[in-house]
Amino acid sequence: MIDSYKHQGLRRQLVDSLKEKGINDEGVLNAINKIPRHFFMDNAFLEFAYQDKAFPIAESQTISQPFTVAFQTQLLEVKPGEKVLEIGTGSGYQTSVLCELGARVWTIERIKTLFDGAKKMFTKLHYKPKQFFGDGFEGLPKFAPFDKILVTAGAPHVPPNLLEQLEIGGMMVIPVGKSAVQTMKVIVRVSDTEYKEKKAGSFQFVPLLEAKKW
Ligand code: SAM
Repeated sequence: MIDSYKHQGLRRQLVDSLKEKGINDEGVLNAINKIPRHFFMDNAFLEFAYQDKAFPIAESQTISQPFTVAFQTQLLEVKPGEKVLEIGTGSGYQTSVLCELGARVWTIERIKTLFDGAKKMFTKLHYKPKQFFGDGFEGLPKFAPFDKILVTAGAPHVPPNLLEQLEIGGMMVIPVGKSAVQTMKVIVRVSDTEYKEKKAGSFQFVPLLEAKKW
């Protein structure tokens, strides 16, 4: 697969449309401008890769809408060198955006074919996140604490393990809700025992599944 001038042009148009929708973080816009989203998509959807839409990937999962990726990443205020835990690797596109921002990324996926597909893509694009095949509800206690945690599937509730694995002063961005529509929450760990939370709109994600439902 190649990244043609046509793809690059379509990507610039996508970035312009994200700016119009309120994305103003230059790092996030540069990452989206740089990363070939069409590499992460099934052949059947290649020509739609630069529309601002979610698309199906393997195993009935989705690659999130570019606006959602940009919005969640902007909320996360990622700085180079920060430790970021992502739950729901999926295609690996969001992971690549985090890597492009200079974060040190740990990412968990529960579906093996997606885990394997993302691994190939990271090698191709020279990104080096630490990938884990497992249950995002558990997080990665061995590697905690994390400066930032990003959940890219709709969680029925905020997993307590993830709250525990957040650094004091750290931030989690997580869509929460049991129905098809979830509320984006931004949670900051203020102290050992205190967390502050704000809401940042409504979004639609595939569900974050608990291990007992697999
Ligand atoms: N970030 C992805 C991307 O850029 O393509 C999109 C993620 S997709 C909307 C949600 C992903 O979360 C799916 O790949 C799904 O398999 C995964 N997922 C759901 N429940 C999970 C769990 N408990 N642990 C880890 N991954 C999970």
